[in-house]
Amino acid sequence: MYKRQTITADTVIISTGATAKWLGLPSEQKYNGFGVSACAVCDGFFFKGQDVAIVGAGDTAAEEATYLAKLCKKVYMLVRRDEFRASKAMVHRVLNTPNIEVIYNSEAKEVLGNGKNVTGLKISNNKTGEEKDIEVEGFFVAIGHKPNTDIFKGWIDMDETGYLKTIPGTTKTNVEGVFAAGDVQDHYYRQAVTAAGSGCMAALDAERYLAAKEHHSEVVS
Ligand SMILES: Cc1cc2nc3c(=O)[nH]c(=O)nc-3n(C[C@H](O)[C@H](O)[C@H](O)COP(=O)(O)OP(=O)(O)OC[C@H]3O[C@@H](n4cnc5c(N)ncnc54)[C@H](O)[C@@H]3O)c2cc1C
Repeated sequence: MYKRQTITADTVIISTGATAKWLGLPSEQKYNGFGVSACAVCDGFFFKGQDVAIVGAGDTAAEEATYLAKLCKKVYMLVRRDEFRASKAMVHRVLNTPNIEVIYNSEAKEVLGNGKNVTGLKISNNKTGEEKDIEVEGFFVAIGHKPNTDIFKGWIDMDETGYLKTIPGTTKTNVEGVFAAGDVQDHYYRQAVTAAGSGCMAALDAERYLAAKEHHSEVVS
């Protein structure tokens, strides 16, 4: 059994990441990685020339839909309300992309598959209750991410959505000696390579912090 213990450290790097939000459909989890994805930039390429659907109505969803439209034959965009949450500029881009079809007042009810891969999506109109199936090979969920920062609440400064705040150009947080790297402090890029880059920055920041502390204690003693 896991035993609770306290570990002390002279410096800490927080890299607890951010978790994609899912719709909560059992079929969504069944086909996660087999046609269902929460990252269009990462997985869009696998659906080159195919039909896909994306759910979401914010800026990220709009950006991901236009990204997918460059690769895929057709992109169905499911918007739960009768309007977007995204900025006007992003909505304009979506509505002016010929191979994106926006379906308002729609919700994904079930991801359809052949046991191996996604083959379609059952959607319903939340105003009329009407249901229909659309044929797609990929389904992208773009309804947001939740940074894994609950345990730092009240200790480390965060923005209104819970991402840790760092001093721009560094990985320093508001607490001396505590650094943050990766998706936990980056709601914008959220890529492995940017996470690794900021991880390297955090390691250097922590090393320099320790070296400066050591130097200070040598001078004082
Ligand atoms: C489906 C998918 C495909 C992707 N494909 C690509 C791709 O092709 N290319 C690319 O560049 N990026 C891709 N990404 C994004 C990439 O995975 C992330 O940007 C990257 O993993 C972020 O690294 P991280 O170390 O910040 O966080 P994570 O990799 O999320 O690691 C965080 C770790 O912290 C742990 N943790 C969380 N809370 C606690 C806690 N309280 N205590 C202890 N441990 C905790 C978690 O369990 C996890 O192990 C993809 C993401 C997804 C979801």
